[in-house]
Amino acid sequence: MYTSFLIKYAEIGVKGKNRYLFEDALVRQIKYALKPVEGTFTVSKTPGRIFLDAESDFDFDEVINALQHVFGITGICPVVKTEDISLEDLDEKVVKFFDMAYPDKNKTFKVNARRSRKNYPLDSMELNAHMGEVLLKAFPELTVDVHEPEITLVVEVREMIYIYSEIIPGPGGLPIGTNGKAMLLLSGGIDSPVAGYMISKRGVRIDAVYFHAPPYTSERAKQKVVDLAKKVSAYAGPIYLHIVNFTELQLYIYEKCPHEELTIIMRRYMMKIAEQIAKDTECQALITGESIGQVASQTTQSLSVTNEVCTLPVFRPLIAFDKEDIVTISKKIDTYETSILPFEDCCTIFVAKHPVTKPNLGIIKRHEENLNEKIDDMVKECIDTKEIIIVNAHEN
Ligand code: ATP
Ligand code: MG
Repeated sequence: MYTSFLIKYAEIGVKGKNRYLFEDALVRQIKYALKPVEGTFTVSKTPGRIFLDAESDFDFDEVINALQHVFGITGICPVVKTEDISLEDLDEKVVKFFDMAYPDKNKTFKVNARRSRKNYPLDSMELNAHMGEVLLKAFPELTVDVHEPEITLVVEVREMIYIYSEIIPGPGGLPIGTNGKAMLLLSGGIDSPVAGYMISKRGVRIDAVYFHAPPYTSERAKQKVVDLAKKVSAYAGPIYLHIVNFTELQLYIYEKCPHEELTIIMRRYMMKIAEQIAKDTECQALITGESIGQVASQTTQSLSVTNEVCTLPVFRPLIAFDKEDIVTISKKIDTYETSILPFEDCCTIFVAKHPVTKPNLGIIKRHEENLNEKIDDMVKECIDTKEIIIVNAHEN
């Protein structure tokens, strides 16, 4: 019955002159999301509205699923669209629409008519009253409830006339590409994919970096990160995944620094290298999955010492989240099952029994001096030898 969808968006409607940029980005992202969907579609922008029209047969659920991965969409309304027709013909259309959409007529309803084309013979109020009457006459089981109706039937008179009643929720957020680009430190855990999802939901394009430590971490651990990046890219769009070989550097820290400070020093180098790659690839920020108090390296003191090496802002969207809430999101975005696969993690390989939980920046810096001889070359080597995989959920 439906061949068109009205796309609702909220926040981006209120951004003044930037509004057009946001709308254009949203149109672009919708087209992108529909690429793998079978069928021919056109996406068009009219003032305050974006419409998707199917020009061929299509699978309804597949289209809805694609649209539910486009940040910026708050609601998806399947609509019946018609040319300007006589009131009689419109009555007939509306009745038919209602009949198909709601086989059970034992419902409360109201009509919400909007006339945005002023030369239409009835104004909004008159249309409301008229359509209400028409429906009551066609389906006497219906009851009008203007306050809390089960069904709100919308009739919008524009250049064309649109009839709809259902609003399927979209993911919300802002369209990708409207807020710069950030580099996600992506591990194989539960948190970092969720962090990447949350920041991309604010319209930020993301790339990712993974620190790999072969042979201590396996090919399967690396593949898991690629798989996670792919899950995130279903929302975030294509992701350039930078894979850094971190083994030598990690062994060097292990050799030269106190073992209870290993994790914190290692994390400082991860951030340093990630920031360098971020700057080289025009990212304006870093993203991590850190959350206060989750592990020794995420106490407030540890976070502060880790953060000290960064000049770019570090987005930590999970900073105040309980693990439970993070897990809920990871299930929603379908990363959870992959995240819990039990492969080695480069952070846990050399961990001390009693890592420092209140590191002192001065002491850490003093111990890092033990690395002076080779560390700069090693950092450079890490960056020069990194591998890049372009991850895209829309391609296999
Ligand atoms: P996650 O579930 O995201 O792995 P975690 O609870 O295991 O997080 P840590 O291992 O302390 O926490 O890592 C904190 C953050 O540092 C991660 O969320 C991620 O952003 C980054 N990180 C950790 N290990 C790596 C890695 N091997 N490669 C890239 N980033 C990493
Ligand atoms: Mg981890």
